[in-house]
Amino acid sequence: MTSGAAAAPAHNSRYVFDFSEGGMEMKDLLGGKGANLAEMTRMGLPVPPGFTISTEACRYYLQAGDPPPDLVNQVRSALTRLEVATGRGLGSATNPLLISVRSGAKFSMPGMMETVLDIGLNDDTVGAVAALAGDDHFAWDSYRRLIQMFSKTVLGLDSELFEVRLEQAVAAAGISSDVELPVPSLQQLVSDYRGIVREQTGEDFPQDPHRQLMMAILAVFESWNTERARLYRRQERIPHDLGTAVNVQMMVFGNLGHGSGTGVAFTRDPASGAKGVYGDYLPDAQGEDVVAGIRNTLPLAALRDLDADNYEKLSDIMAQLEEHYRDLCDIEFTIEQGHLWMLQTRVGKRTAAAAFRIAEQLVQEGRIDLDEALRRVTGAQLGQLMFPQFDLSGGVDLLTTGMGASPGAAAGHVVFDSATAVAAEADGRDVILVRRETNPDDLAGMVAAVGVLTSRGGKTSHAAVVARGMGKTAVCGAEELEIDYEARSLTLPDGRVIAEDDVVSIDGTSGRVYAGALPVEPSAVVKYFDAGLDAANDRADEPTRELVRAVDTIMRHADRVRRLTVRANADTPDDAARARRMGAGGIGLCRTEHMFLGERKEIVQRLILAANDQEREDALAELLPLQRKDFIRILERMDGLPVTIRLLDPPLHEFLPDLTDLSVRVALAEQGGTDAESELALLAAVRRHHEQNPMLGLRGVRLGLVLPGLFALQVRAIAEAACFRQRLGGDPRAEIMIPLVGSVQELELIIDEASEVLKSVAERNHCALEFPIGTMIELPRAALTAAQIAEAAEFFSFGTNDLTQTTWGFSRDDVEANFFSAYLERGVFGVSPFESIDVAGVGRLVQMACDEGRAVRPDLHLGVCGEHGGDPESVHFFHDAGLDYVSCSPFRVPVARLEAARAVLTTDAGSDTR
Ligand code: PEP
Ligand code: MG
Repeated sequence: MTSGAAAAPAHNSRYVFDFSEGGMEMKDLLGGKGANLAEMTRMGLPVPPGFTISTEACRYYLQAGDPPPDLVNQVRSALTRLEVATGRGLGSATNPLLISVRSGAKFSMPGMMETVLDIGLNDDTVGAVAALAGDDHFAWDSYRRLIQMFSKTVLGLDSELFEVRLEQAVAAAGISSDVELPVPSLQQLVSDYRGIVREQTGEDFPQDPHRQLMMAILAVFESWNTERARLYRRQERIPHDLGTAVNVQMMVFGNLGHGSGTGVAFTRDPASGAKGVYGDYLPDAQGEDVVAGIRNTLPLAALRDLDADNYEKLSDIMAQLEEHYRDLCDIEFTIEQGHLWMLQTRVGKRTAAAAFRIAEQLVQEGRIDLDEALRRVTGAQLGQLMFPQFDLSGGVDLLTTGMGASPGAAAGHVVFDSATAVAAEADGRDVILVRRETNPDDLAGMVAAVGVLTSRGGKTSHAAVVARGMGKTAVCGAEELEIDYEARSLTLPDGRVIAEDDVVSIDGTSGRVYAGALPVEPSAVVKYFDAGLDAANDRADEPTRELVRAVDTIMRHADRVRRLTVRANADTPDDAARARRMGAGGIGLCRTEHMFLGERKEIVQRLILAANDQEREDALAELLPLQRKDFIRILERMDGLPVTIRLLDPPLHEFLPDLTDLSVRVALAEQGGTDAESELALLAAVRRHHEQNPMLGLRGVRLGLVLPGLFALQVRAIAEAACFRQRLGGDPRAEIMIPLVGSVQELELIIDEASEVLKSVAERNHCALEFPIGTMIELPRAALTAAQIAEAAEFFSFGTNDLTQTTWGFSRDDVEANFFSAYLERGVFGVSPFESIDVAGVGRLVQMACDEGRAVRPDLHLGVCGEHGGDPESVHFFHDAGLDYVSCSPFRVPVARLEAARAVLTTDAGSDTR
């Protein structure tokens, strides 16, 4: 995403803006809090007066190490205006002004940066504050709070020093809490605190309020870069170069007796999205007390009884804010001795369900149109609504945390191999398949299991990709687990052992693994996509019905708006059918490798081991009818829609036994004197095909060129399947895709061979086979020579998994578990490039290939079928790059449909997808 940050700040900029000068459109400069305070001021709402120091000043300070030269003057002028507006003076011994200094970045970072309250208190003003409030306790308690907060935040002292002293004072007074401290104790505490400051810094606590103010402002600037703030930004994908604004505002006090109090409120329920005002109120308290949860709050409705007038006023203001912002607002307010003050408002955060419900309510109420409703929800939120979730309310026993590789919630008995999983499922038992890592042999077990847990591999490991494709929950790379296949157990770092058959629960979103079976809540939204509105509404409560209705309304609009087609990656008839129900406009990637597994593996082994042409042709002839049947069924499910079938991609050794296992078996057989002849032949073949880097070895198009007849067989099976479907009156639309092409010559050789086959099948069967033949672009060389490749290819489909692997030189099976956490922590990238497209590098290759390919062949059809096709931010990129379609796993299809529409409405790609 783009930061929206201005270029390097100029020296003569204006850095300080009164609240009366700004507005909500100025978030870049004034931060969210400042812009909204200005907006409320502009609306004529009761906002304590103040001013905002811009993010530009912060950026200047962080770059230069000094504040901008004119900042002090500008702050002084603004302060003078504030003094005039309030009729009080900062540091005045008769009518003192107290101010707060608060951070406020463009994007909300709750609690991450600093705040200093009660600035203006010192030995001279404390008495006047007491007299004005009629409350000595209040004045001295505020003074000691100022010293404590200032020391920690501005002077960087250990807060423990002050806490200990406070506890001692409470103990000495023989009371239970610091709110009861008598005034003399508070006065003593102020004196002690000042002693601590002197001892620790060698200087007195600053008595000059102007100095207090400037020091606090700079401390807030610096808090932009604390460890926790940086961590938060990384998680939330907030750019590090924005800086924070600083809001300086007249203090108002909710802790001045019974006519005072403070509260927070929402204009609708941010958790469920239900209509109606929600909030909490705390009489005779400061805002910090509400946030800290020190005292139990009252529901907002209680304010009606306590102070009907202000309750009315507040309700009116909330209605005005909703009307004005046309969205759910959250607010903070304080009542100071009967006077209502608005301290903050912003468009409130909400859960995924609330986002959809509120967007639809606002459309119904005529406040926003459907385009705006689309902007208000995200694909990530839709994704959350589609997966079942654990109900964690009953307490949990967390065993370990891995990578949330395929979202969802699953609980079942632990099993360690595919066969046991299949048998257990046949017995009607839910199982979690636990493996160090999975390979194609584990497919049956993965299908049978309710979830998959691995100790190795990342988000694009076999387990993750396959599980996501199936919509099956998976946690990968849970490295703390020691899996012992022999003992059929796994061991945790603390020595605890989970044996086969024990029950665990895995959360594929958070990556957490729990002991025992946690209750699971199914998703009505998935039922809606999978089986329609009626099925989703069946036995659902009203909020759920409203949610499903909202999803339905917004998705229908998304389909009208989007330009990108969304296809699915699907390799079985069931997946194809589900993809279609989920709204896929075809298949963008049908991987054919799984069609060579199971009982067919033995035929493939004969193909690989064939001693002569005859043996090879026999094996191919046996595979042909099986492949044909596969394609007939998929083309039938996707009748009338394009189905891109990719010819075989993985290295041959994946179809052969493991080298070490086989060597041991042969050695044992030889030792025992048994006949090992056939095993020996197999071993020789396995050795022949063994590669150090199979991902860079004999796979994809290379295999098609080296193993005679293999690709021709697949093309023949596709062609014959299509003829069969045509004869039945169907409309098969196969597209043939060649993987791992690096040069146009490779592609041309395969196209020549395929065209021959298509021609002969068409002639023999009297049918028309005008299938496009295209290629994956998944190697940098393919992208760099796209202009040449486009001479031969009728379409490009970007294989961004391999393209990311080969552009970065990252092994997609290893790096995520090995060192990505360090890279993310150290800010090399904000998100794994296997998850969200690396726009600057891999994205540049994609854009280049699109442009250069289309320059040669203007009608070149362009798509993407790597995992990025279902990632919200990447979908925006592919829209902007001019692709025709994205293809993703069936479960991601609705998310991609939604984001494809949002991409049309967002000119600044990716900026609004968080
Ligand atoms: C890719 O590389 O992006 C791709 C879709 O192919 P696979 O994941 O099967 O290598
Ligand atoms: Mg690939």
